[in-house]
Amino acid sequence: MRKKRQKKPIPRVDTARTRTVRRQAIMPAAKSQKKHPQAVVIERADFPRLMEALGSRGYQIIGPTVREGAIVYDTLTSDEQLPAGWTDEQDGGTYRLKKRSDDALFGYNVGPHSWKRFLHPPVQRLFSARREGGGFEVLPEPESSPKYAFLGVRACELHAITIQDRVFLDGPHVDPIYKARREKTFIVVVNCAKAGGTCFCASMNTGPRGTSGFDLALTEIPENGHHCFVAETGTKEGAAVLRKVPHRAATEADLESAECVVAETARHMGRTLDTTDIKELLYRNHEHPRWEQVAARCMTCANCTMVCPTCFCSTVEDVTDLTGEHAERWRKWDSCFTMSFSYIHGGPVRSSIKSRYRQWITHKLASWIDQFGTSGCVGCGRCITWCPAAIDITEEVRAIRDSAFTHAKSPTIIGASQ
Ligand code: SF4
Ligand code: SF4
Repeated sequence: MRKKRQKKPIPRVDTARTRTVRRQAIMPAAKSQKKHPQAVVIERADFPRLMEALGSRGYQIIGPTVREGAIVYDTLTSDEQLPAGWTDEQDGGTYRLKKRSDDALFGYNVGPHSWKRFLHPPVQRLFSARREGGGFEVLPEPESSPKYAFLGVRACELHAITIQDRVFLDGPHVDPIYKARREKTFIVVVNCAKAGGTCFCASMNTGPRGTSGFDLALTEIPENGHHCFVAETGTKEGAAVLRKVPHRAATEADLESAECVVAETARHMGRTLDTTDIKELLYRNHEHPRWEQVAARCMTCANCTMVCPTCFCSTVEDVTDLTGEHAERWRKWDSCFTMSFSYIHGGPVRSSIKSRYRQWITHKLASWIDQFGTSGCVGCGRCITWCPAAIDITEEVRAIRDSAFTHAKSPTIIGASQ
């Protein structure tokens, strides 16, 4: 539940000092749990009580479930809908489900969905209008802001939500749809117990452990025939929910187990990204030949932006019925990969694939920092997994870094060239 908005940790621009801290970050963060008096253990058998407690407080639970060969987020009414015993295998352009050797409920990484589809819906009617005399009467959109409980949010995803908070809530133009949904949302983080083949949250300092911004945080321990969750609360609402769930105080052994789970995950990231001076690197290499090479593979399908948990661009469409008596305005997700996205007075600003790919990655990793004070990437790896050409953001940055222009070759304001 989003109470009072407060500054939360966000992915930072890398420096030598932050990289040193990052390498040490997982273990000290996990150890701090030992000092946390609220750390408790919930047995697997009592997990349904957590869902009941959320339901009894009026939350619509959104969580992971298996559908059409993937783990997606949808409304859940029972723990039997969770992906028990399933995991995912991911690589560039590849995603497959396979069975685990245990019954872990959250033993996977991230799928094609992200939580943004619930806070910033892909398609949203903004208002309707009907003809009245010589003009139109605008009909306000009925209030519909569900009270969500997000179950199974990963640490990187929580950072992505925090980034979208900045976009939709912190500027002079607050998005009322996002605000109404976000304020009521209860967040249950589940720390990652495995790293995916395309994950690089450790490089972005966004995971694999949730450190703040949650109502409840769980670490699942499905081992040795004793399946349980180490839980800690982050808000009063989280504590109120936990009181309704049978639990016991966590022992040192429980906390050690939870600590090991997260530390192991951090050690096995599928990808890494060196973020040292990344903003300057990309600005400096506006004309690097690598942009042409990646453009030859990119199909501008926009998958990478649709699956990305931080991409927020949208367009509006006005539609009318055949009689001309009724009209509606809809907001829909858009992408910087579409030709129409940069269309202004007679043509698109970015007509080449090269300019559109460069715009995307440079915004994510460089100009986002100028715009919002953080990176626009949390290292979830979705854009790598769901790219049909297996284009890999970490590989592209590495290629540019390895053969970078060392002196400024282009202006630092970008986006208008072809
Ligand atoms: S980078 Fe990949 S996912 Fe993104 S638009 Fe190009 S082909 Fe599609
Ligand atoms: S740019 Fe790719 S890795 Fe980064 S947050 Fe978006 S989808 Fe995830």
